[in-house]
Amino acid sequence: MLIETHAHLDYPDFANDFDDVLRRAVEAGVTRIITIGTSVESSRRAVDLAEKYPNIFAVIGVHPSYAGEAAEDIITPLRALAKSKRVVAIGEAGLDYHRLPSVEAAKRKDVQVFNALQSETEEQVEARIEDGAYKSKQADLFEQQLDLAVELRINVVIHQRDAWYDTLEILRGYGHQVSGVFHCFGGTREQAEEVLAMGHLVSFTGIVTFKNGASVREVAAGLSLGEFMVETDCPYLAPVPFRGKRCEPAHTRLVAESIASARGISLEEIARATTATAEQFFRFNRA
Ligand SMILES: [Zn+2]
Repeated sequence: MLIETHAHLDYPDFANDFDDVLRRAVEAGVTRIITIGTSVESSRRAVDLAEKYPNIFAVIGVHPSYAGEAAEDIITPLRALAKSKRVVAIGEAGLDYHRLPSVEAAKRKDVQVFNALQSETEEQVEARIEDGAYKSKQADLFEQQLDLAVELRINVVIHQRDAWYDTLEILRGYGHQVSGVFHCFGGTREQAEEVLAMGHLVSFTGIVTFKNGASVREVAAGLSLGEFMVETDCPYLAPVPFRGKRCEPAHTRLVAESIASARGISLEEIARATTATAEQFFRFNRA
């Protein structure tokens, strides 16, 4: 009995065979699925799915990569959506500096080789200003979601990419008021220890099954039971042997099996521990 703690079931990738996806999850022993919102609209769809299917639960939030399109005020619509008892956490929220405007501008510049030096410099200056605005919008949205989590006394699903220091800095400002899970954890053992010491958790995706995922697999093997959960982040990151294909919640089992074998314990043991951790972390019974 496994809990898939991070799926994007509202994505169009699942529109054509949704019921088959759910059936295969049950067949694989994945009895509960948490679907994660990435914008206010996506969060609304997540809540709708959770209200319709008894084994689906919703996490509502705005992903940092959607900061550009997001409204200034997201706490108001998210607060309204959180009235649903099917909402078990806030997120995914956090910081993602992987595609900063300056990086994108630099890529564009590669093709515009005939640009005068002066205009390139201006472009760079402009990109830096854009980076600052983009980062502060992400930080503001992250804080609104952390504020809402504090207000509702629920936990947060955290997305962090290329923004480790700033993410921890913001979380530190909240002390022990909020607890989060660093989803799709891909950091070092030391980074895992750092967030665990702050009262957060980590969770692992299909990356633990990848040939080049050895270091993440080692981190997963080294942590104590109770410190981590399992997920797929589907439709992305399908585990081996489905790598490159559309991922789905049934594959949570492959993630759990991979960690179990790296630890030399049974799938049942991993399932029991990660399910207990998820039951504590997510608010399944908000009635
Ligand atoms: Zn996600």
